Amino acid sequence: MGATFYTEVQAGSDLSGLETVAQQSGEGKWRLRGIKYFTSNIGQADAAIITAKPTPPRPGAKGVATFFAPAYLPDGRPNWKILRLKDKLGTVTVPTGEVELRDTEAHLLGTLDIGIYIALEILTIARIDNSTAGLGLARKALWEAYLYGNERRAFRKRLVEHPLYLRDLVEMEAKLQATLLYTLTAAKTFSDVAYAERPPYGPAYHYARLHTHIVKNLAAWTSIDITRYSMELMGGIGFLEEFPMAKIHRDALVTAIWEGTSNIQSLDMAEAFYRKDAGKALLEDLATRINKLRDEEARHKLTAALQNIKDFATEALKDGVELHSKKLLAMLGKAAAATHYQGWAEDSGEQWATALSKIYLYTEVIDKEIDSNLVRKGGEGLQWML
Ligand SMILES: Cc1cc2nc3c(=O)[nH]c(=O)nc-3n(C[C@H](O)[C@H](O)[C@H](O)COP(=O)(O)OP(=O)(O)OC[C@H]3O[C@@H](n4cnc5c(N)ncnc54)[C@H](O)[C@@H]3O)c2cc1C
Repeated sequence: MGATFYTEVQAGSDLSGLETVAQQSGEGKWRLRGIKYFTSNIGQADAAIITAKPTPPRPGAKGVATFFAPAYLPDGRPNWKILRLKDKLGTVTVPTGEVELRDTEAHLLGTLDIGIYIALEILTIARIDNSTAGLGLARKALWEAYLYGNERRAFRKRLVEHPLYLRDLVEMEAKLQATLLYTLTAAKTFSDVAYAERPPYGPAYHYARLHTHIVKNLAAWTSIDITRYSMELMGGIGFLEEFPMAKIHRDALVTAIWEGTSNIQSLDMAEAFYRKDAGKALLEDLATRINKLRDEEARHKLTAALQNIKDFATEALKDGVELHSKKLLAMLGKAAAATHYQGWAEDSGEQWATALSKIYLYTEVIDKEIDSNLVRKGGEGLQWML
């Protein structure tokens, strides 16, 4: 098992501020000294990827190098000291600690001049992992709520027989499926370029990276929303520790924080979208997909949503993109997820799938009320969980 030691007290979102130093010790090895403030999997990991600044340190992110270090030295001694374990709100089955690197023996990954690229590429992969893990939590929570709703009776009927209860479930199912599909698309896009691209990377890499920022944010908040509301759909027992919902929700909460918070995803998305010009490719790809949709309403509404995004992105430039980047991130996420989901649903030929994709379009992209027919048909898409 592995771990990443990046974050320090003064350097979390801003990796350029890290103070851990690396000194070459001969035979190609390095020795690292510093304190890492968040280290997950500690005590379990066999090795860690560690960021540090070789001496004499160069300022800024370009001065960051990335190292690989085993947890134990060949003579069995630990290669770092665990100072303490964190007392966390969630993910308590994964120990997270503070670690002191005291002449930790390490191997340089790549070369000194591309250290920050390596560190960030690892985070790109982690964003995809984080997204799928968050959606896994959402699936577990929704599944529990669905099973509960099929058993529990209130007002003389099973809960799923109440239109409003079923509506809640199908809306969440649509959100989960749409986000998962877009996450898997982002993973495939990255996997297609990852082996060919090398720092400082070309347009294909930045295009793939753009997807991962959008998906990371979308999946984290989908996970948080679904795990929270599934808890409510189980009523009072959803809140009890003897049932799994509270733990699942607590575990979901961190998915928006680690591997870069929502604001950091927004800023990094904006960098890829505008500075690396990957936004143009994304909007073109979505336009092509939308034009191929067979459902006329979806085609028109998504074309309008895409135009809205283009206008917003242009307006944002006038005021400084930073302030508007999170809204743009959310708009892109929902439009992209809706486009992929609609295309997939049409190809599947399943009525429940086209109903769910319409529900996603109405509730997440265009704010149009859904009707009982859509809810009933969409509900058929949940029955596999029984
Ligand atoms: C349970 C847990 C496990 C973790 N495990 C690991 C691990 O294994 N390895 C590791 O390296 N790290 C780990 N982390 C650390 C995590 O990645 C960082 O906490 C996270 O990246 C945020 O950094 P920070 O805590 O320094 O927050 P800060 O950088 O101080 O940010 C605080 C707030 O300010 C916002 N902010 C920062 N800069 C800007 C800006 N320019 N514009 C707008 N808003 C901004 C952020 O979005 C955030 O909301 C873990 C964290 C947790 C909670």
